[in-house]
Amino acid sequence: MEVKIIEGIPASPGIAIGIALKYEKLKPKVTKKEIKEHEVDAEIDRFLRAIEKSKSELHKIFTLAVEKLGSEGAQIFEAQLLMLDDKMIIDRIIERIKVEKVNAEFVVNDEVEKYIKFMQSSGDDYLKERAHDLEDLKNRVIRNIQQEKWLSRFDTSRIVVAENLTPADALLFSRNQVLGYATDLGGITSHTAILARALKIPAVVGLREATKFIKTGDTVILDGYKGIIIINPNQSLIDEYQEKLTRISEFEKKLEQLRFLPAETIDGKKFTLLANIELPDEVDEAIQKGAEGIGLFRTEYIISNGVIPDEDEQFEEYIKIAEKIYPGKVVIRTFDIGGDKIFRDYRREDNPFLGWRGIRVGLDKPDILLSQLRAILRASVKGNVMVMFPMVASLEEVREVKKMLELAKSQLRERGVKFDENIKLGIMIEVPSAALMAKEIAKEVDFFSIGTNDLIQYTLAVDRGNETVAKIYQEFHPAVLRLIQFVVESAHRARIPVSMCGEMASDPYATILLVGFGLDEFSVAPDSIPRIKQVIRSIKYRDARRISKRALVFKTQGEIKAFISKELKGIIPEFDF
Ligand code: PEP
Ligand code: MG
Repeated sequence: MEVKIIEGIPASPGIAIGIALKYEKLKPKVTKKEIKEHEVDAEIDRFLRAIEKSKSELHKIFTLAVEKLGSEGAQIFEAQLLMLDDKMIIDRIIERIKVEKVNAEFVVNDEVEKYIKFMQSSGDDYLKERAHDLEDLKNRVIRNIQQEKWLSRFDTSRIVVAENLTPADALLFSRNQVLGYATDLGGITSHTAILARALKIPAVVGLREATKFIKTGDTVILDGYKGIIIINPNQSLIDEYQEKLTRISEFEKKLEQLRFLPAETIDGKKFTLLANIELPDEVDEAIQKGAEGIGLFRTEYIISNGVIPDEDEQFEEYIKIAEKIYPGKVVIRTFDIGGDKIFRDYRREDNPFLGWRGIRVGLDKPDILLSQLRAILRASVKGNVMVMFPMVASLEEVREVKKMLELAKSQLRERGVKFDENIKLGIMIEVPSAALMAKEIAKEVDFFSIGTNDLIQYTLAVDRGNETVAKIYQEFHPAVLRLIQFVVESAHRARIPVSMCGEMASDPYATILLVGFGLDEFSVAPDSIPRIKQVIRSIKYRDARRISKRALVFKTQGEIKAFISKELKGIIPEFDF
């Protein structure tokens, strides 16, 4: 049999070697049927019983999600449960069954499809992803009206290959010791990808043609690091990957022992490792993985269902983190709403990433910004809280936000509330204009944090969430590296520290360059801390400086990557996965 490799997008790290199970979810068939007057009540009853059954199924899924992911991670399913309680839609469906005298599944399909179409045509990635959830919910209800069973249990230890998976599928399958997920559709930010990472199941998405070439029973290798799936691998490939698996598990064991050791190069240069968190509950994990503090708290995640919590509610969240991480610090970023993260005042835009996003929203809605700043200031009494602003593009904006912070301080003084008078103010460097103005801006703020997720997207004009252009989203593009180097140098000239909180900080291939550039702090997902620490502890600052200087001379990402790969292999031989 011929070996075939399909390339996709790496969505959750890890390697799986095993038997494929092709999962084809049959869409329920819906046909329109007329019903008689005396059948109307029974039809409505059938519909309402299906709603109850769907609720009880979702309750079970929700409980499983809470168990595996914690309550915050289970929110997707809570949202689906809430939709089932939407009285307006339910009444409308009942009304249509009564008036039009047609079968329940037809009305459910027709009615919910309207919302789905609206969401899909919105041109907004977040809404499109929610349309997917709604489709899943609709199919669940229709299946229950038709009283069909759905496959959720199957042979254990399989690599599931599907056109697409809903978050509920991914969660339910995880009970069967699934080895990995491979899907034709999906991007790295889809809920299924996020769930796979949380469940620590290797996954590759956006494979386009996996279901066309893979049959149930085929042997496959799924490489969640590289984002590929190998169909019918020969023995030497299997051996190679088995060896890799052993090496990785030994490496992971070694990493556990690093927890209490400093992030220090062999020749004694120290770096600070911080964690990025989305939920206050993640602080414990961050500490456990060896984080010295929180380098980025993405506050927009406390906005639930588009509603922004008030000052007191926000204060409760912030103080919880500040207390837990004390004496370590926490950098609280003001709401980065807009782009792919929406809230209630959201306005439809053709180019949301270039539109009303981050600090632009904050400055247009001073009430929102001021109440958040007051909440952050109140949490700063012990002196370990810093405030940071997203999406800053000009010095004017820096000056504006500084004024806002002063205003929030004076409002608190009037109320007699204590806070850290010397709270440090920093900005994200994630818009190329801010990077190019770094020298000037550095003189007016206390710190920088480089947000490479957006900096790369805006520098290369490549949408960070679009799978079609994922290949040209280049972390090691010379333009990106030059900007980063310039930002670090500018910060140091002004004697302010510079951190990086974009995903690039957690890429071990980039570590040697960032160390060489002199980045002070790395802020990464808690899980990535030991790996980055391991790289830092395996290199010499002197070598890193030489390598990073040399890397800036190359003219393409290909050349740069090949160069780093070669250098790294010489320094840390176990690092070729
Ligand atoms: C970034 O842009 O790199 C960043 C850290 O911010 P976010 O991913 O929240 O946009
Ligand atoms: Mg960003």
